[in-house]
Amino acid sequence: MSRGIEVRVERSNFTPRGEVTENRFNILLEFEVSVPSNSYVFIGGMTRGLGSWLSSLQSKIEQHARGLKPVDENTIMREFGGLFEMQRLRGVTEFLKYGQNYAIPGSSLKGAIRSRVEYKFKLFQVGAEYRSYSCYVAQNPWPSSPTSPHVKFWGEDVIYTRPTCFPPQVCAVCDLFGCPSLSSRVHFTDALMTAGQVQYVNELRREAALPGSKFKTSVHLMNSDFSDLGLLFLGMEHFTSSPILIGAFKYRFNEKLGRERLRNRYSTGLLRFELQSFKPLLGDFPSDVISCNTLINRAREKLLEKYGNYVDIQRGVLP
Ligand SMILES: [Zn+2]
Repeated sequence: MSRGIEVRVERSNFTPRGEVTENRFNILLEFEVSVPSNSYVFIGGMTRGLGSWLSSLQSKIEQHARGLKPVDENTIMREFGGLFEMQRLRGVTEFLKYGQNYAIPGSSLKGAIRSRVEYKFKLFQVGAEYRSYSCYVAQNPWPSSPTSPHVKFWGEDVIYTRPTCFPPQVCAVCDLFGCPSLSSRVHFTDALMTAGQVQYVNELRREAALPGSKFKTSVHLMNSDFSDLGLLFLGMEHFTSSPILIGAFKYRFNEKLGRERLRNRYSTGLLRFELQSFKPLLGDFPSDVISCNTLINRAREKLLEKYGNYVDIQRGVLP
C-alpha cells in the first residue's frame, strides 16, 4: 500500500452559482437528525479557558515575530509543543451550545456528509491508471497508518492522493459542495436540539447527546438537479437507512472495526438523517414529485444514471 499512488480525478466545468439555469431548481429541505438508540454523540463546544490559552500562544508568536527569541526547532518544540499538549490534555468537554440550545454546527454536518460522498466515489481503472469522479478536498498531508481506524473503516485506497480541484474544472463533489475559490451550492443551518438530553459520560470525560436525542436542520440547494440531490442523499445515507458518523470517538466503539461497545451496548458518533419535508423555491421542478419518497427515489435514479458505475452506495454503511 502506498500513498504514492495518485488518482486522476475526472472533472468538468462547474455549474453556475447565483442563477437558476434550465432544468434546474432551488430547493429547501427539512431534516430531522437523530441519535440512534444504540449510540451517543459527542460534539465539542468551546472549552473554558481557551481564551487565556490563545493569548499566551499569541504573545509567544509575537515575541518570535519581533525577533526577541531565536527560532530553531528545539525552541519551537519547547515553547509551542508544550502549549499544544496542554490544550490537548485539557480537551473539549462540553457539548456545543448556542444560547440555551444544544447544537450541531451546520459546517460539521456538511463536512461529515461530504466526506462520505468522497469515499463512496470508488476508484476505477483505465489501463494502469486509477481514476475517480471525486477529489479529496481536505486530504491529510501525512499518510495515515494502514492500521489507523480511518483506513480500516474506509479501506486502504483512502490514502491514495486525489488532488483537490480548482475551478473552472471541478469534480462532481466540488461542483455541489464547493472547493477553494468556488462557493458551495448546498447550505446547512446549524441543527438545534428539539428533544432529548445531554449528559456527562464519565468514561470519556465529555458531555454527549444521549440516545434518542433529536435535532432539526434545514438544507438549501442552489441551481440543483436530481443528481445533485442524489449526491446529498447519498452522503446522508438515505439509500441505505444507515446512520452517518460524526464528532469525537466515532471509531472508538465502532462495531464495524470489531471494537467493544461503550457500556457493552453503545456505539459513539452515529447520527441518522430523515427527510421530513421539502419546498421547491425557484426554477423547473417537476410537478409529479410531491412526496419525500418520490423525491428520494427520483434522486437515486438520476444519481445512478449519471454515476452508477462510479459510486459504491454500500461503502461505509453501518449496522
Ligand atoms: Zn473536487
